[in-house]
Amino acid sequence: MENNETLFETESAFSKYNKYIAAMLAVYYLMIVLFGKNNSIFEVVIGVGVSAALLLDWAAGMKKYFYKKFVLRIIRYSVMFMSAFAMLYTSGIYVTIFIMSAVYMATVFEHLFLYDISEDYYKISAVLETIFPMTLVTLIYYFFASCTNFEIIIVVIFIVIFVMILVSNMKVCGELIDNLLNNMYRQERIATNSKEEYENLKVYQSKLVHANEQLSIQRFQLQKLNESVKSQNRQMDLQHKILRRISASLEIGKLTEFVTSSITTNLQVEVCGIFMFDIVIGDDEPKDFFNLNNIYDIKLPDNTVKLFKEFVSTEEFSQMCDGYMVVNDVNEEIYPFVREMHISSFLIYVVNLSENQKGYLFVGKKTNGYFNDNNIGFYKGIGEQMTVAINNAELYAKMHDMATKDSLTKIFNRRHFNAKYPELIRKAKEENKVLTVILFDIDKFKNINDKYGHLFGDGVISYCGYMAGKTANENNAIAVRYGGEEFVIVFPDKNVEEVYAIVEKMHGEIKEKVFDYEGTDVHVDVSIGIASYPETCDDINEILSHADIAMYYSKNTGRGRITIYSGKSRGEE
Ligand code: GH3
Ligand code: MG
Ligand code: MG
Repeated sequence: MENNETLFETESAFSKYNKYIAAMLAVYYLMIVLFGKNNSIFEVVIGVGVSAALLLDWAAGMKKYFYKKFVLRIIRYSVMFMSAFAMLYTSGIYVTIFIMSAVYMATVFEHLFLYDISEDYYKISAVLETIFPMTLVTLIYYFFASCTNFEIIIVVIFIVIFVMILVSNMKVCGELIDNLLNNMYRQERIATNSKEEYENLKVYQSKLVHANEQLSIQRFQLQKLNESVKSQNRQMDLQHKILRRISASLEIGKLTEFVTSSITTNLQVEVCGIFMFDIVIGDDEPKDFFNLNNIYDIKLPDNTVKLFKEFVSTEEFSQMCDGYMVVNDVNEEIYPFVREMHISSFLIYVVNLSENQKGYLFVGKKTNGYFNDNNIGFYKGIGEQMTVAINNAELYAKMHDMATKDSLTKIFNRRHFNAKYPELIRKAKEENKVLTVILFDIDKFKNINDKYGHLFGDGVISYCGYMAGKTANENNAIAVRYGGEEFVIVFPDKNVEEVYAIVEKMHGEIKEKVFDYEGTDVHVDVSIGIASYPETCDDINEILSHADIAMYYSKNTGRGRITIYSGKSRGEE
């Protein structure tokens, strides 16, 4: 059984043909009305009625009225009845039969396509719909109207032929149409199936694309994870290396250089620096230590360290910094010490060296937002270890000072000199270099001790030691407290003439120095001897004793003098 939807679609299609039939009938009746001789009003009404019914059928097919089946039936039977009336009533019977045949054929085809004509109900309905109105109208005419017997016979013959054609062809047409429809349905099914397959394929494809995307994301995440693990491994390796080196290193300069260069070369940061301000190591004066390394090997502005020192001394810094400070979008105006570093992020880690002494580990990176929880820990570890290392270095420096330096004068003691001196000699000999030695002794020192006391004497020895140390520092030499009030200065790479000038200056300063003893001005003088290899002696091992000889020559020839050793005269000035 057809459903209402398919009924509507098929009816709509067939109604289109009805409009052509309606148009043809309308033209036909118009011609009868205009040119016919015996036209009655009834004739015209019937003609117009058939046309109107067919047009109604067509118009209604455009709307959804076919959902109501009885409306369809009424229209169909009206068309049939009015057609039959028209056929019999109008005078042009042959033309009318031709046109009626067209109307009936349309109805038959409608049945064939619309309904399942293998069902008896639709067979009977098709026969009735086409034969019944015609037969009924013919009977009415036969009994009540004045039509000729010839006309009746023609109509009956038409009906018989029509029924015969209809019934005999219904089966064949039905099969043909069934085949046609089956083919159509098969094609449609194939089309639907391939459409479904295509849809499935599309779904599968999009799933595949999605899965691929997921895989790429996972691969990307894995790569990132791998990178992060690698970077952490790199950090751990480096930390291990640095920590080993830190705990073994007792020299602050080397230590800081190692840490900063390791970080810049291994961790792809652009700048790394270690700053320590006003640090006291051993007996030295407070000193600033810093080491600033950058991967570009460019010279940073001279005031970089000064500006950094100023920044970390500000109240603002101590407020912002909680053990460390991270700036992930650097502005040169706010942080002027980063000028020419070409960095966008930096970290300052504060190393607490002692109660008043602080160090700063500074790391700068070109990219914005570089510092996060992952890498801050690493620098924290390095910073903490540096605290230990620097404290160790300080301790070591103190112990080293105690072992090698004289406590009163802060210059090298004789023990250290005895250990180092042979090496100086060997080096000068090997490299064929000049080596000049001076020895000086305070004149009549016993008197000073006796006159002003031992403590005052210590002050004088201390000053002379300071002068020896100063002279040595200025001339890349080594000063030693050789005995009680005897001092030695070794000048590598300086000849007699050069040393004589240096010593003369020192001698002058000592002579002019005024010591104050309870308001009394006290002056001291020293006797000096100079010996030099290879200028004054051929044997390098002899220069120290030759300097001693020269010094005694000064003593013996009036004191407060400088004597250059001469092999010939053994004491000639
Ligand atoms: P000369 O001009 O010949 O050198 O006469 P001098 O009196 O200086 O004689 P000498 O060099 O022999 O005297 C050294 C004195 O220095 C002996 C010692 O008491 C004194 N002395 C040595 N070490 C110290 C010290 O650490 N402090 C003090 N106050 N005196 C010292
Ligand atoms: Mg003396
Ligand atoms: Mg002496």
